[in-house]
Amino acid sequence: MDPILDLHTHSTASDGTLTPQALVRRAAAAGITVLAVTDHDTTSGLAEAVAAARASSVTLVPGVEISVTWCGRTLHVLGLNLDPGNRVLQKGLATLREFRSWRAEEMGRRLARYGIQGAYQGAKALSNGTLIGRTHFARFLVSRRLAADTRDVFRRYLTNGKPGHVAGQWATLEDAVGWIRSAGGQAVIAHPARYDLTLTRLKRLLGEFREHGGVGIEVVSGSQGPDDTFRLGRLAREQRLLASAGSDYHGPESPWLELGRLPVLPGGCTPIWHDWPCMLGEPRLSRAVVG
Ligand code: AMP
Ligand code: MN
Ligand code: MN
Ligand code: MN
Repeated sequence: MDPILDLHTHSTASDGTLTPQALVRRAAAAGITVLAVTDHDTTSGLAEAVAAARASSVTLVPGVEISVTWCGRTLHVLGLNLDPGNRVLQKGLATLREFRSWRAEEMGRRLARYGIQGAYQGAKALSNGTLIGRTHFARFLVSRRLAADTRDVFRRYLTNGKPGHVAGQWATLEDAVGWIRSAGGQAVIAHPARYDLTLTRLKRLLGEFREHGGVGIEVVSGSQGPDDTFRLGRLAREQRLLASAGSDYHGPESPWLELGRLPVLPGGCTPIWHDWPCMLGEPRLSRAVVG
Protein backbone atom coordinates (compact mmCIF):
# COMPACT_ATOMS: atom_id res chain seq x y z
CA MET A 1 0.00 0.00 0.00
CA ASP A 2 1.32 3.45 -0.88
CA PRO A 3 1.85 5.71 2.11
CA ILE A 4 -0.51 8.63 2.46
CA LEU A 5 1.01 11.54 4.34
CA ASP A 6 -0.34 14.72 5.86
CA LEU A 7 2.31 16.77 7.60
CA HIS A 8 0.38 19.84 8.77
CA THR A 9 -2.74 19.57 10.96
CA HIS A 10 -4.29 21.25 14.00
CA SER A 11 -6.13 19.96 17.06
CA THR A 12 -7.93 21.58 19.99
CA ALA A 13 -4.49 22.09 21.54
CA SER A 14 -4.48 25.21 19.31
CA ASP A 15 -7.15 26.35 16.84
CA GLY A 16 -8.36 23.02 15.46
CA THR A 17 -11.79 21.74 16.43
CA LEU A 18 -11.01 18.00 16.82
CA THR A 19 -9.26 16.68 19.91
CA PRO A 20 -5.89 15.08 19.17
CA GLN A 21 -7.51 11.66 19.55
CA ALA A 22 -10.40 12.49 17.21
CA LEU A 23 -7.95 13.98 14.70
CA VAL A 24 -5.86 10.80 14.63
CA ARG A 25 -8.97 8.63 14.29
CA ARG A 26 -10.25 10.72 11.42
CA ALA A 27 -6.85 10.55 9.74
CA ALA A 28 -6.82 6.77 10.10
CA ALA A 29 -10.33 6.57 8.63
CA ALA A 30 -9.17 8.73 5.70
CA GLY A 31 -6.39 6.22 4.98
CA ILE A 32 -3.51 8.38 6.21
CA THR A 33 -0.47 6.37 7.21
CA VAL A 34 1.80 9.21 8.38
CA LEU A 35 0.30 12.19 10.20
CA ALA A 36 2.04 15.22 11.69
CA VAL A 37 0.15 17.14 14.37
CA THR A 38 1.47 20.72 14.20
CA ASP A 39 -0.40 22.98 16.59
CA HIS A 40 0.40 26.69 16.81
CA ASP A 41 3.15 27.39 19.36
CA THR A 42 2.39 24.34 21.50
CA THR A 43 3.09 20.62 21.67
CA SER A 44 0.46 20.01 24.35
CA GLY A 45 -1.67 17.83 22.06
CA LEU A 46 1.10 15.42 21.12
CA ALA A 47 0.94 12.99 24.04
CA GLU A 48 -2.74 12.27 23.35
CA ALA A 49 -2.09 12.07 19.59
CA VAL A 50 0.78 9.61 20.06
CA ALA A 51 -1.36 7.42 22.31
CA ALA A 52 -4.22 7.44 19.79
CA ALA A 53 -1.85 6.65 16.94
CA ARG A 54 -0.47 3.63 18.80
CA ALA A 55 -3.95 2.16 18.78
CA SER A 56 -4.30 2.73 15.02
CA SER A 57 -2.50 2.29 11.71
CA VAL A 58 -1.19 5.85 11.79
CA THR A 59 2.46 6.78 12.36
CA LEU A 60 2.44 10.02 14.33
CA VAL A 61 5.07 12.65 13.54
CA PRO A 62 5.45 15.01 16.52
CA GLY A 63 5.34 18.57 15.24
CA VAL A 64 4.61 22.22 15.90
CA GLU A 65 3.86 25.37 13.87
CA ILE A 66 5.84 28.30 15.23
CA SER A 67 4.77 31.92 14.72
CA VAL A 68 7.64 34.05 13.44
CA THR A 69 8.09 37.73 12.66
CA TRP A 70 10.37 38.27 9.69
CA CYS A 71 10.88 41.69 8.11
CA GLY A 72 7.73 42.96 9.79
CA ARG A 73 5.51 40.09 8.63
CA THR A 74 4.15 37.02 10.32
CA LEU A 75 5.39 33.71 8.93
CA HIS A 76 4.87 30.16 10.10
CA VAL A 77 7.66 27.64 10.51
CA LEU A 78 6.80 23.99 10.98
CA GLY A 79 8.95 21.72 13.10
CA LEU A 80 8.67 18.04 12.21
CA ASN A 81 9.95 14.97 14.03
CA LEU A 82 10.97 16.87 17.11
CA ASP A 83 11.32 15.87 20.72
CA PRO A 84 8.54 17.67 22.62
CA GLY A 85 10.45 17.12 25.86
CA ASN A 86 13.27 19.41 24.75
CA ARG A 87 13.76 22.32 27.18
CA VAL A 88 15.01 24.88 24.67
CA LEU A 89 11.98 24.30 22.47
CA GLN A 90 9.55 24.45 25.38
CA LYS A 91 11.08 27.61 26.80
CA GLY A 92 10.81 29.31 23.43
CA LEU A 93 7.22 28.22 22.84
CA ALA A 94 6.27 29.39 26.33
CA THR A 95 7.33 32.96 25.47
CA LEU A 96 5.11 32.89 22.39
CA ARG A 97 2.13 31.63 24.39
CA GLU A 98 2.70 34.40 26.93
CA PHE A 99 2.43 36.94 24.14
CA ARG A 100 -0.68 35.13 22.84
CA SER A 101 -2.39 35.40 26.25
CA TRP A 102 -1.74 39.10 26.49
CA ARG A 103 -2.73 39.60 22.84
CA ALA A 104 -6.05 37.80 23.37
CA GLU A 105 -6.96 40.10 26.26
CA GLU A 106 -5.86 43.13 24.27
CA MET A 107 -7.95 42.01 21.28
CA GLY A 108 -10.91 41.72 23.63
CA ARG A 109 -10.32 45.25 24.95
CA ARG A 110 -10.00 46.70 21.46
CA LEU A 111 -13.11 44.97 20.18
CA ALA A 112 -14.99 46.17 23.28
CA ARG A 113 -13.92 49.75 22.53
CA TYR A 114 -15.23 49.21 19.04
CA GLY A 115 -18.59 48.16 20.49
CA ILE A 116 -18.29 44.36 20.51
CA GLN A 117 -18.60 43.17 24.11
CA GLY A 118 -17.56 39.81 25.52
CA ALA A 119 -15.25 38.77 22.68
CA TYR A 120 -12.41 37.70 24.95
CA GLN A 121 -14.66 35.52 27.12
CA GLY A 122 -16.39 34.19 24.01
CA ALA A 123 -13.15 33.30 22.27
CA LYS A 124 -11.75 31.76 25.44
CA ALA A 125 -14.84 29.58 25.82
CA LEU A 126 -14.30 28.24 22.28
CA SER A 127 -10.64 27.43 23.01
CA ASN A 128 -9.01 24.93 25.33
CA GLY A 129 -8.82 27.78 27.83
CA THR A 130 -5.09 28.36 27.55
CA LEU A 131 -4.13 28.91 23.92
CA ILE A 132 -6.40 31.52 22.38
CA GLY A 133 -5.88 32.46 18.75
CA ARG A 134 -7.51 34.75 16.26
CA THR A 135 -9.47 31.77 14.91
CA HIS A 136 -11.30 31.50 18.25
CA PHE A 137 -12.26 35.17 18.03
CA ALA A 138 -13.36 34.61 14.45
CA ARG A 139 -15.61 31.71 15.42
CA PHE A 140 -17.11 33.75 18.26
CA LEU A 141 -17.85 36.74 16.00
CA VAL A 142 -19.46 34.45 13.42
CA SER A 143 -21.62 32.91 16.17
CA ARG A 144 -22.73 36.46 17.06
CA ARG A 145 -23.56 37.04 13.39
CA LEU A 146 -21.09 39.91 13.20
CA ALA A 147 -19.65 38.41 10.02
CA ALA A 148 -20.65 35.80 7.45
CA ASP A 149 -17.79 33.38 7.99
CA THR A 150 -14.32 33.26 9.55
CA ARG A 151 -12.64 34.60 6.44
CA ASP A 152 -14.99 37.58 6.55
CA VAL A 153 -14.11 38.17 10.24
CA PHE A 154 -10.40 38.25 9.45
CA ARG A 155 -10.97 40.71 6.64
CA ARG A 156 -13.20 43.03 8.68
CA TYR A 157 -11.82 42.80 12.20
CA LEU A 158 -8.61 40.85 12.72
CA THR A 159 -6.04 41.85 10.11
CA ASN A 160 -3.59 44.75 10.04
CA GLY A 161 -5.35 48.09 10.54
CA LYS A 162 -8.68 46.55 11.54
CA PRO A 163 -10.34 47.19 14.95
CA GLY A 164 -9.39 43.90 16.65
CA HIS A 165 -5.86 43.62 15.26
CA VAL A 166 -2.96 43.68 17.69
CA ALA A 167 0.53 43.89 16.26
CA GLY A 168 3.36 42.17 18.03
CA GLN A 169 6.63 40.42 17.88
CA TRP A 170 6.71 36.63 17.48
CA ALA A 171 9.91 34.55 17.38
CA THR A 172 12.77 35.53 15.09
CA LEU A 173 13.38 33.18 12.17
CA GLU A 174 16.71 32.24 13.69
CA ASP A 175 15.18 31.43 17.09
CA ALA A 176 12.34 29.35 15.66
CA VAL A 177 14.71 27.25 13.53
CA GLY A 178 17.12 27.03 16.46
CA TRP A 179 14.45 25.72 18.86
CA ILE A 180 13.34 23.11 16.32
CA ARG A 181 16.91 21.99 15.72
CA SER A 182 17.61 21.84 19.45
CA ALA A 183 14.69 19.44 19.70
CA GLY A 184 16.17 17.32 16.91
CA GLY A 185 13.47 18.35 14.41
CA GLN A 186 13.39 19.51 10.80
CA ALA A 187 12.33 23.10 10.13
CA VAL A 188 9.99 23.74 7.19
CA ILE A 189 8.57 27.05 5.90
CA ALA A 190 4.78 26.59 6.03
CA HIS A 191 2.49 27.61 3.14
CA PRO A 192 4.94 30.01 1.43
CA ALA A 193 2.32 31.11 -1.10
CA ARG A 194 0.29 32.80 1.62
CA TYR A 195 2.79 35.50 2.51
CA ASP A 196 2.36 37.66 -0.54
CA LEU A 197 6.12 37.95 -1.01
CA THR A 198 7.77 38.87 -4.30
CA LEU A 199 9.99 36.12 -5.69
CA THR A 200 13.06 38.15 -4.74
CA ARG A 201 11.95 38.43 -1.11
CA LEU A 202 10.85 34.81 -0.96
CA LYS A 203 14.29 33.76 -2.17
CA ARG A 204 15.88 35.98 0.45
CA LEU A 205 13.71 34.36 3.11
CA LEU A 206 14.66 30.88 1.95
CA GLY A 207 18.35 31.81 1.87
CA GLU A 208 18.28 33.12 5.45
CA PHE A 209 16.21 30.15 6.53
CA ARG A 210 18.77 27.74 5.09
CA GLU A 211 21.63 29.62 6.74
CA HIS A 212 19.92 29.14 10.10
CA GLY A 213 19.59 25.42 9.42
CA GLY A 214 16.09 25.21 7.92
CA VAL A 215 15.73 22.28 5.55
CA GLY A 216 12.33 22.31 3.87
CA ILE A 217 9.39 24.18 2.39
CA GLU A 218 5.78 23.14 2.18
CA VAL A 219 5.41 22.60 -1.55
CA VAL A 220 1.95 21.05 -1.33
CA SER A 221 -0.53 22.86 0.92
CA GLY A 222 -4.27 22.53 1.38
CA SER A 223 -4.50 26.30 1.10
CA GLN A 224 -3.23 26.69 -2.47
CA GLY A 225 -3.91 25.72 -6.06
CA PRO A 226 -1.87 23.73 -8.62
CA ASP A 227 -0.07 26.80 -10.03
CA ASP A 228 1.45 27.62 -6.65
CA THR A 229 2.36 23.98 -6.09
CA PHE A 230 4.19 23.84 -9.42
CA ARG A 231 6.00 27.12 -8.71
CA LEU A 232 7.01 26.04 -5.19
CA GLY A 233 8.20 22.67 -6.46
CA ARG A 234 10.57 24.43 -8.84
CA LEU A 235 11.72 26.75 -6.04
CA ALA A 236 12.39 23.81 -3.70
CA ARG A 237 14.58 22.18 -6.35
CA GLU A 238 16.43 25.42 -7.17
CA GLN A 239 16.99 26.31 -3.53
CA ARG A 240 17.98 22.77 -2.59
CA LEU A 241 15.25 22.46 0.03
CA LEU A 242 13.30 19.35 0.88
CA ALA A 243 9.62 19.32 -0.04
CA SER A 244 6.82 18.84 2.49
CA ALA A 245 3.08 18.35 2.06
CA GLY A 246 0.29 19.21 4.47
CA SER A 247 -3.39 20.08 4.41
CA ASP A 248 -3.36 22.63 7.29
CA TYR A 249 -6.52 20.85 8.44
CA HIS A 250 -8.40 22.65 11.24
CA GLY A 251 -11.49 20.43 11.51
CA PRO A 252 -14.58 19.17 9.69
CA GLU A 253 -16.20 22.64 9.73
CA SER A 254 -14.22 23.35 6.56
CA PRO A 255 -15.58 20.55 4.37
CA TRP A 256 -13.73 21.75 1.28
CA LEU A 257 -10.50 20.67 2.93
CA GLU A 258 -10.24 17.05 4.05
CA LEU A 259 -7.44 14.93 5.46
CA GLY A 260 -5.59 12.59 3.15
CA ARG A 261 -6.54 14.21 -0.15
CA LEU A 262 -3.35 16.04 -1.04
CA PRO A 263 -1.92 16.05 -4.55
CA VAL A 264 1.46 14.36 -5.06
CA LEU A 265 4.67 16.40 -4.97
CA PRO A 266 5.79 17.83 -8.32
CA GLY A 267 8.45 15.74 -10.09
CA GLY A 268 12.08 16.19 -9.09
CA CYS A 269 11.40 17.31 -5.52
CA THR A 270 13.10 15.44 -2.70
CA PRO A 271 10.41 14.63 -0.13
CA ILE A 272 11.25 15.66 3.43
CA TRP A 273 10.35 12.10 4.45
CA HIS A 274 12.90 10.50 2.06
CA ASP A 275 15.04 9.22 4.91
CA TRP A 276 12.46 8.86 7.67
CA PRO A 277 12.63 5.44 9.34
CA CYS A 278 8.85 5.04 9.06
CA MET A 279 9.15 5.42 5.27
CA LEU A 280 12.00 2.94 4.93
CA GLY A 281 9.93 -0.01 5.95
CA GLU A 282 11.11 0.11 9.54
CA PRO A 283 9.00 -2.38 11.42
CA ARG A 284 6.21 -1.08 13.59
CA LEU A 285 3.39 -2.92 15.26
CA SER A 286 0.98 -3.80 12.51
CA ARG A 287 -2.71 -3.93 13.09
CA ALA A 288 -2.55 -7.68 12.70
CA VAL A 289 -0.11 -7.94 15.59
CA VAL A 290 -2.11 -5.56 17.78
CA GLY A 291 -5.20 -7.56 16.92
P1 AMP B 1 -3.05 33.51 15.13
O1 AMP B 1 -1.86 32.62 15.07
O2 AMP B 1 -3.81 33.40 16.41
O3 AMP B 1 -2.72 34.94 14.76
O4 AMP B 1 -4.06 32.98 14.03
C1 AMP B 1 -3.61 32.53 12.79
C2 AMP B 1 -4.62 31.51 12.28
O5 AMP B 1 -5.78 32.17 11.86
C3 AMP B 1 -4.15 30.75 11.06
O6 AMP B 1 -3.42 29.62 11.42
C4 AMP B 1 -5.45 30.35 10.44
O7 AMP B 1 -5.96 29.21 11.10
C5 AMP B 1 -6.35 31.52 10.75
N1 AMP B 1 -6.45 32.50 9.65
C6 AMP B 1 -5.54 33.44 9.30
N2 AMP B 1 -6.00 34.20 8.29
C7 AMP B 1 -7.22 33.73 7.99
C8 AMP B 1 -8.23 34.10 7.05
N3 AMP B 1 -8.06 35.11 6.18
N4 AMP B 1 -9.38 33.38 7.03
C9 AMP B 1 -9.58 32.35 7.90
N5 AMP B 1 -8.67 31.97 8.80
C10 AMP B 1 -7.51 32.65 8.86
MN1 MN C 1 -4.62 28.02 12.55
MN1 MN D 1 -0.05 28.60 9.30
MN1 MN E 1 -1.39 25.60 10.24
